[in-house]
Amino acid sequence: MLFLITGGAGFIGSAVIRHIIQNTEHSVINIDALTYAGNLESLSLVDDCERYFFERVNICDSCELERIFSEYKPDAVMHLAAESHVDRSIDGPATFIETNIVGTYTLLEASRSYWNSLEPVAKKAFRFHHISTDEVYGDLEGTDDLFTEKTSYEPSSPYSASKASSDHLVRAWHRTYGLPTIVTNCSNNYGPYHFPEKLIPLMILNALDGKPLPVYGDGMQIRDWLFVEDHARALYKVVTEGVVGETYNIGGHNEKSNIEVVKTICSLLEELVPNKPLGVAQYRDLITYVKDRPGHDVRYAIDAAKIERELGWKPQETFESGIRKTVEWYLNNTSWWSRVLDGSYSKERLGAG
Ligand code: NAD
Repeated sequence: MLFLITGGAGFIGSAVIRHIIQNTEHSVINIDALTYAGNLESLSLVDDCERYFFERVNICDSCELERIFSEYKPDAVMHLAAESHVDRSIDGPATFIETNIVGTYTLLEASRSYWNSLEPVAKKAFRFHHISTDEVYGDLEGTDDLFTEKTSYEPSSPYSASKASSDHLVRAWHRTYGLPTIVTNCSNNYGPYHFPEKLIPLMILNALDGKPLPVYGDGMQIRDWLFVEDHARALYKVVTEGVVGETYNIGGHNEKSNIEVVKTICSLLEELVPNKPLGVAQYRDLITYVKDRPGHDVRYAIDAAKIERELGWKPQETFESGIRKTVEWYLNNTSWWSRVLDGSYSKERLGAG
């Protein structure tokens, strides 16, 4: 099979590509616009494989998408390209509307036109897998409820509203045009190659540098955490075995408050890096509470029973094992993140380095 993966230079997309290239015989065409979040260095373990291809393409560009479909003739699309950072969506929602909504629409139309051109057997086997977030469901504050595939949508941020829109478009393209789509909604991911603006890598790298660890509000916001490699395995299972027209929630059964996550990172650093930066007695002394994010959801929690029951997927990592692996990865891969922090990763790929 050949998978067309959008956003494959990002955090989760690169994990999916590493999983497919390293564990299967399938091929991948990665299309990515290489925004600030795209980093081809996250693919260094697989980019010399003859089954891996890359093209710098924006998913809003319909002509380029048409060219990619007719040149590569993919068997399935896995759509991960998106603007993904909630804080950035609050400061500047326009690119979120453009990429997450218009981009998904443009990709759906290109996929539909290609799918219509296929012979019956290939047409039946084709899949369009849309990768989305549990944030579309909104806030579970004050309840013990879990998000199921039937939970109604109530997005709070420009990011989650744009992802909710894209989910609706994908389902409409299935219902109206018959495009064989599947949607997955997943909880917060963490793990290797995560861009340092997100909570877990930000805390690890700030602590190592003796900088404050900024925690929003009282730090009691609860998220369900999933190790990114468990998500990549789930996505591969869904695209190859999932039922067309269905939605699958993916989660790790790891509800943790943000402050718990930050304190766990501090404890691991105490154990793994006993030589603290100058002036720091304990890593947790760096924790600094800052003004809460506007519209901040208090609790997300996923019921992943359907994918476990119907497709036999279960996460392999607990939060304890996954967070240890993650901290160790950042300690052992300083060259990856120092090139992100000093911006040289983007200069090099643009040929200006
Ligand atoms: P990311 O920000 O790390 O990567 C996004 C990638 O998309 C980047 O490589 C970027 O260059 C590319 N991109 C952005 N705009 C593009 C455009 N117009 N055309 C082509 N490429 C473009 O994001 P991520 O964390 O890897 O998330 C991937 C997907 O999974 C997103 O759709 C996100 O909504 C979803 N998701 C993420 C999480 C999470 O915790 N990170 C959880 C659930 C779902």
